[in-house]
Amino acid sequence: MIKVCKFGGTSMADAKAIRQVKNIVQSDPERRFIIVSAPGKRFKDDIKITDMLYRCYNEVVESGTCKETFKVIRQRFTEIVKDLELSLDIESVLDKTEKEINESKCADFAASRGEYLSAIIAADFFGYEFVDAADMIRFDSHGKLNQDYTDDKVMSRLNGVEKAVIPGFYGKNFQGQIKTFSRGGSDITGSIIARGTKAGLYENWTDVSGFLVCDPRIVDNPKVIKQITYKEVRELSYMGASVLHAEAITPVMKGRIPINIKNTFKPEDKGTMIVPNEQYVNDDNSIITGIAGKKNFTVLLIEKSMMNAEVGFIRRVLSVVEHYGLCVEHLPSGIDTLSIVLETDQLANGVLNDLVGEIRENVNPDYVHVIENISLIATVGHGMARRPGTAATLFTALANANINIRMIDQGSSELNIIIGVANSDYEKCIKAIYSAFNK
Ligand code: ASP
Repeated sequence: MIKVCKFGGTSMADAKAIRQVKNIVQSDPERRFIIVSAPGKRFKDDIKITDMLYRCYNEVVESGTCKETFKVIRQRFTEIVKDLELSLDIESVLDKTEKEINESKCADFAASRGEYLSAIIAADFFGYEFVDAADMIRFDSHGKLNQDYTDDKVMSRLNGVEKAVIPGFYGKNFQGQIKTFSRGGSDITGSIIARGTKAGLYENWTDVSGFLVCDPRIVDNPKVIKQITYKEVRELSYMGASVLHAEAITPVMKGRIPINIKNTFKPEDKGTMIVPNEQYVNDDNSIITGIAGKKNFTVLLIEKSMMNAEVGFIRRVLSVVEHYGLCVEHLPSGIDTLSIVLETDQLANGVLNDLVGEIRENVNPDYVHVIENISLIATVGHGMARRPGTAATLFTALANANINIRMIDQGSSELNIIIGVANSDYEKCIKAIYSAFNK
């Protein structure tokens, strides 16, 4: 079996961590393709290399050179090479990289160099081939991954390669320019390589021992999720659980390749297995898998009597929303009501007023009520579809905690109950749900 392993920024942060990565990689011959992030934080107030590289880009734009910030980056990489006792001529690679960042004047190119340098060093240290992600991962002209083309390239490039280190986070477009994924995108690279090499397992090594049932800053010591389905992870990641990039699931889905979230600094912990539905074994009979949430939404509650009989009503409301280029988060509706849930950030600078005005003009509602400072909390678990009483448990817990629910949306997937509560009830609400389902 082929295992593809991705190591995140903390795992690549300094020589000590990279030695640990080498131990992990070399303790299992099936770990053949290793994707690495740029060095991340070594301590709380440290700065990630990627953040410094974006800063380099800004300096180039403002003053024509990134000399000052690149000095710090240079120091970080030379220190790692020295501490690993490598004979690699990293200075020459860094000279060339600095020159290219100055000349390219491209944010994606600058940002990608952290992973590039990290992979060159790791390949040298492990004695593995360095294979550039830019030779395999292709984006189309809209910046979207071209999955088929990329699959072919991954297959042909890695065919016959025994072991390789591949930089995460970037690829290139058909014009030959370097393009990155969104932040945290090395998770997606790992998933793409797992799919292209038909791996049996994608190990995602990070600095926590898996997905927790909920945010440990809100609930003390929440349980680790042992097993979770692809779809549940999508829901939780989308709602703010930050262990894995929300787009990292899609590439492995087709090949039904499981992902194991592991902790580089506690490799003996089993972590979380993310599996397709058919591989899921609910050995602890849990009803819900996880709870995640986000603050700061605005709900527009539109009411009009006989709305349900008015053909095209929802379409007309949504075309106004679309006209403003806004993303709709949820759309719960009743017979005479329609709620539109939007991220508050999108509504600054007068957009909210204009939007409400235009909705009034276009669909002539009885009223539009704006509810601000709403948090959305998703309780996710594919077990709930089959089990009566889940919603009752959830709502009873909230009633007992004296939390006023402002909105309810049970998605059609029956995987998820999303509720809207006041921002000020956010933490209390997550605590109440967690304790209701973990007695
Ligand atoms: N280094 C990039 C970031 O900080 C990508 C990654 O680590 O996945 O976002």
